[in-house]
Amino acid sequence: MSSTPTSTGASTSASSLYSPEHELFRRTVVRFLESEVLPQLPEWEKQGFVPRDLWRKAGATGLLLPSAPEQYGGGGGDFLHTAIVVEEIARHLATGVAGFTTHSDIVAPYLLNIGTEEQKLRFVPKMASGDIVGSLAITEPGAGSDVKAIRTTAQRVDGGFLINGQKTFITNGYHADYVLIVAKTDPAAGSRGISLFWVDATTPGFSRGRVLDKVGLKAQDTAELFFENLLVPEEALLGEVNLGFSYLMRELVRERLMIAVRCAMALESALDGTIAYTKDRQAFGKALIDNQHIRFKLADIKTLACVTRTFVDSCVTRYMRGELDTDGAAMAKLWASEATRAIDDLMQFHGGYGYMREYPIARAWTDVRPNRIYGGTSEIMRELIARTL
Ligand SMILES: Cc1cc2nc3c(=O)[nH]c(=O)nc-3n(C[C@H](O)[C@H](O)[C@H](O)COP(=O)(O)OP(=O)(O)OC[C@H]3O[C@@H](n4cnc5c(N)ncnc54)[C@H](O)[C@@H]3O)c2cc1C
Repeated sequence: MSSTPTSTGASTSASSLYSPEHELFRRTVVRFLESEVLPQLPEWEKQGFVPRDLWRKAGATGLLLPSAPEQYGGGGGDFLHTAIVVEEIARHLATGVAGFTTHSDIVAPYLLNIGTEEQKLRFVPKMASGDIVGSLAITEPGAGSDVKAIRTTAQRVDGGFLINGQKTFITNGYHADYVLIVAKTDPAAGSRGISLFWVDATTPGFSRGRVLDKVGLKAQDTAELFFENLLVPEEALLGEVNLGFSYLMRELVRERLMIAVRCAMALESALDGTIAYTKDRQAFGKALIDNQHIRFKLADIKTLACVTRTFVDSCVTRYMRGELDTDGAAMAKLWASEATRAIDDLMQFHGGYGYMREYPIARAWTDVRPNRIYGGTSEIMRELIARTL
């Protein structure tokens, strides 16, 4: 006789990829967020950044570079360890520390994948401990989606390169000790004239603008950076000269997948919270969820969350097998980030409370929004996918 499985939770879309060892790591991450981050988050949201010391605490607990090799001070895990940090930050709405994952799983992989042995040994262990905070500076006031239109230049001179230009919207820009600067080394060569530089932020000529006042992600520092006759040594060059654009395209696969993982969890978590809320809140003598309109809408969103989870999990599996390519990652990011539009409906079912930041759904609504913008906008994802048609 066959038995019919019953639903195990509100969204029933939990990932099946994780081993018991991964789940132990998840508990460490959750404990850290609950004890070290969430109690102070409202205060940090007011100032626009977290304390610098939190980075070292996160490093000591193993939250930074969880999937980097142990020989470079990392946790020695796989992409699922990265995914766990991304997911739990999203689930707990601890988005003030979303920069941990930028540092660990967007910036550090450039050093690991294209850095020299000397660069890896010198910088990666310090990134894992939180002694060095890293950021990636691509976007400029006049060039975001169109990376090859950047105007920051790095001119070869005696003793290294002279960098001039400016960047904006840089995650961890306020705390960063080192910045991976994307600059033109051959301005006439378009995308074939771009190089990457790993630059010490204390170098004369490097300065920071204000911490930008964002709609959401309030405690996550995002800043402008300025470079004026910034002289960096030859060793600051990461990888080969003029190959920067191809490095970016390769590394963006991982970044976009991480965004998809974040969005899948953000949607599930917002759905779970809304189901609980609509069961509890009464109007016209019954629970909100007893209205067919709301029940049906939640059923649609549960289905959307399940489809999203299944697709994202399959992309994670393909990535771990080395099979996820540029358009695969673009589809993952496009689908999962666009799916989070449903959080607007979930917010609606909270009425006026949904607009109050003390309610998690309000922060889910504001903090999930940039996932359709950074890492390449939805329009750029469609463009990348369309090129394969
Ligand atoms: C919270 C946050 C954090 C960020 N962190 C970083 C960071 O750490 N490092 C970094 O370098 N950048 C960062 N960014 C910048 C982000 O990557 C850019 O904002 C993004 O790439 C879009 O660039 P843009 O803002 O210049 O928009 P634009 O490129 O000016 O685009 C404007 C609009 O036009 C659309 N568009 C552009 N070209 C086309 C086209 N060909 N077809 C159709 N539509 C098009 C876009 O999709 C968008 O809707 C961050 C942004 C935010 C909001």
